Amino acid sequence: MATSIKKGLTAKQLLYMARVFWKKTASLSLVKISSFSKKVDKKTGNLQITCTTYSLKDGNGVSKRPRDIKRHKTSVSSQTGPGGKVSTGPIKVSCSCESFLYHCEYKLWKNYGAADLIYGNGKPIVKGPTADVKMAACKHLVTVVETILKKGL
Ligand SMILES: [Zn+2]
Repeated sequence: MATSIKKGLTAKQLLYMARVFWKKTASLSLVKISSFSKKVDKKTGNLQITCTTYSLKDGNGVSKRPRDIKRHKTSVSSQTGPGGKVSTGPIKVSCSCESFLYHCEYKLWKNYGAADLIYGNGKPIVKGPTADVKMAACKHLVTVVETILKKGL
C-alpha cells in the first residue's frame, strides 16, 4: 500500500522536525546570515526570502578553517499568494548545501510538496556523510526560518 502523501508544510512544522535532528549537534548556533533579501514574486504574489548563509563549524561541531567556509544560497517562500506570510501558511524551501541535496530536498518535495527539485534529479539520494533519514532541514534553513519567524514575515 502506498504511503499517504501529506501536502503542505508550515515553517513551524519544518522547524519542529528539524530541531529533533539538530539538537544533537553543536554546530547549529554557528550559522551566520550575511545577506537577507525579500521580494514578492510578480507571477504568484508569493513572498520570497533569499539569504546567503555560512557556518563557522562543521557537522561535528569543529571550527572550520577560514578557507573551508562555504557560502550557501538559502531560500524560503510563502505559497499562499499576495499578502501571504511565510510564518502562517505552507512554504517552499531550498538550500545550495550538500546536506539539503542529500538529505532534505527529495523528502520535502515528495512528502510535502515543500521543495522544488532544483539540485537533485527526482531520485532519492542515499549518498553522503551520514545519509540521515531524519534530517528535515539543513542547519542553514533552520537559522533562516527562525529568523523569518522572529521578524514576523
Ligand atoms: Zn543548507
